[in-house]
Amino acid sequence: MDGAGLPETRSTCPYCGVGCGVLLRADGQGGLTVRGDPDHPANKGRLCSKGLALGETTSTEGRLRHPSINGQEATWDTALQTVADRFSQAIRDHGPDSVAFYVSGQMLTEDYYVANKLMKGFIGSANIDTNSRLCMASTVAGHRRAFGTDTVPGTYEDLEQADLVVLVGSNLAWCHPVLYQRLAAAKKQRPDLKVVVIDPRRTATCDLADLHLQLRAGSDVALFNGLLTALSEGGAVDYAYLSHVDGFDTALVAASVDRMNETGLDRRDIQTFFNLFLRTNRTVTVFSQGVNQSSAGADKVNAILNCHLATGRIGRPGMGPFSVTGQPNAMGGREVGGLANMLACHLEIENPDHRQAVRTFWDAPVMADHAGLKAVDLFRAVGQGQIKALWIIHTNPAVTMPDADAVRDAIKGCDFTVVSDITGATDTARLAHVLLPAAAWGEKDGTVTNSDRTISRQRAVLSPPGHARPDWDILSEVGRRMGWHKAFDYETPAEIFREYAALSHIAGQFDRDFDISALSDLSDHGYETLPPTRWPVTATRQGGRFFADGQFYTPNGKAQMLALQYRPPAAKTGPRYPFRLNTGRIRDQWHTMTRTALSPRLSAHLAEPFLEIHPDDAARTGLGPASLVRVTSPVGTAILRTLITDRVRKGEVFAPMHWTSDTAPSAQIDAVVPDVVDPVSGQPESKAAVVALSPY
Ligand code: SF4
Repeated sequence: MDGAGLPETRSTCPYCGVGCGVLLRADGQGGLTVRGDPDHPANKGRLCSKGLALGETTSTEGRLRHPSINGQEATWDTALQTVADRFSQAIRDHGPDSVAFYVSGQMLTEDYYVANKLMKGFIGSANIDTNSRLCMASTVAGHRRAFGTDTVPGTYEDLEQADLVVLVGSNLAWCHPVLYQRLAAAKKQRPDLKVVVIDPRRTATCDLADLHLQLRAGSDVALFNGLLTALSEGGAVDYAYLSHVDGFDTALVAASVDRMNETGLDRRDIQTFFNLFLRTNRTVTVFSQGVNQSSAGADKVNAILNCHLATGRIGRPGMGPFSVTGQPNAMGGREVGGLANMLACHLEIENPDHRQAVRTFWDAPVMADHAGLKAVDLFRAVGQGQIKALWIIHTNPAVTMPDADAVRDAIKGCDFTVVSDITGATDTARLAHVLLPAAAWGEKDGTVTNSDRTISRQRAVLSPPGHARPDWDILSEVGRRMGWHKAFDYETPAEIFREYAALSHIAGQFDRDFDISALSDLSDHGYETLPPTRWPVTATRQGGRFFADGQFYTPNGKAQMLALQYRPPAAKTGPRYPFRLNTGRIRDQWHTMTRTALSPRLSAHLAEPFLEIHPDDAARTGLGPASLVRVTSPVGTAILRTLITDRVRKGEVFAPMHWTSDTAPSAQIDAVVPDVVDPVSGQPESKAAVVALSPY
């Protein structure tokens, strides 16, 4: 209870992957007050501007209140039967790979689990991919190549215990603000803690930096290969730890090809960074979208992992590579099999023993036996008419996918599209044949996993408007109506969580890292009161770090260093498209602003889309301050307002990704980004398109 005498409920913020705990107090009339949970290990009471404004974003005005079919109000019974019938018909006529789900890191783990089970174990296809593909698929691929599993080795405490924190392609101050606050507080307490920012832009995070390496976009592998060579020559290699690692020699030979000129950095600055890294044992390298959203994203991740493996700086206090995730439950999605190339609990879809074990556990009639379509390929298949029934849940691909206009056309042309969302006023929802009203944050129960493997509860404190329902409930009923009554006979999210935890026991038997089997007999009360819990959670182990002991999840138990060669971004600048376009987030908006735009104070931060451009480039292109500029790439055009600043390098420009056709017509930057992907991870290259600029 707080001073007002009304009970407070513990939950988690629905925005970024920091996963902050919040205390919610509903006033019983739809209003909500929010404060940071002092007992949550991720934030210890802190919140950022977005978390603090949560109470301003729960209005039910404009919410979807009832299902509709082709724009006409329908009952749940009719809508769900229509979905079940159309998916069943497509599977009968064209096979299981003719249907697809495109889901979201906004979904709770229980929602994700049911969607994944329905698609992979009962429909028999792996055509379920998530918008996390756009966020961190390169990290998943990099982790799997090096460790054998998608394991985040460390914890948030490592950032505070380190003597050197290197932030690569991560604007932590804006995109993971509470983690930035924790780092800033640690640096204030220990000014000797050094911070290096490696980013083509001088972002707000640079305020904390002792050194900013403003490298050329996409040149990270060249830099980290150089670092590996310097670590070897400087005597920082931990040869005892290397007994747990394969591939050091070949990685070093590949790294010794000096491509440092590709970074565009001053050699003295590079040397300063190398010397810092070389002599600082307690080093954490944080990386995020600047690394992941690249046609060489997985290689960039492995270039970073190589340096930590070579020095044995992994899984120990204050040491390790650390991926920070974009969305509140991107990690939960990775764990539960939300990606088209994974099974639940970090089991492998390519492994027949894993497939059989999951099939037996689910008592499933069929099992997907090959990876499904990753996001970009999935929407290409939709455009080519190969996908006959598509279900999009809590995401807006008509705005956020690369080559967004083509994705919009693809969805528009699909035979049958279902959209589940909290509002019908998105570019994607308007294309749906069947629109299903989903419960929003604050109205539904379940769990999420944050960037340091902590599972936290989200709890319902508000009533969904109209007939809106939780996603696990909607998906389960479609499963039952498709004929699988017993498998989808869930009545509560607690039941789903227990089943998921029991499945993880099998993963543990296959020597997978993700094991929460000790939670499989959690009572309903235990689920209701579950405190934040870092996995693994087994009879013998809870939480902690991975890999200090040199035990990895590869077939021979050793980590793998990779021989990597620098590859430039896929598109080349030239006379026609002379600028390199970087895209990203701003501090106070989230995704396509469905919720954050409801808060006037969040919208006041940066009220309209913009293009950051260097003063010299603005002058030679004839662009003045706050003038309109046409941004053209080989695939599309956007009109933005100039923001002239030397925060960006000459020849490089930056634009945010949040605005939609409703909030800023003609300013959707992902319509300009081509759908080039990393061949390993399938993640789009969202930060290195080439564009031409002209006054509008
Ligand atoms: Fe929410 Fe992330 Fe801000 Fe924490 S840091 S309050 S999780 S947006």
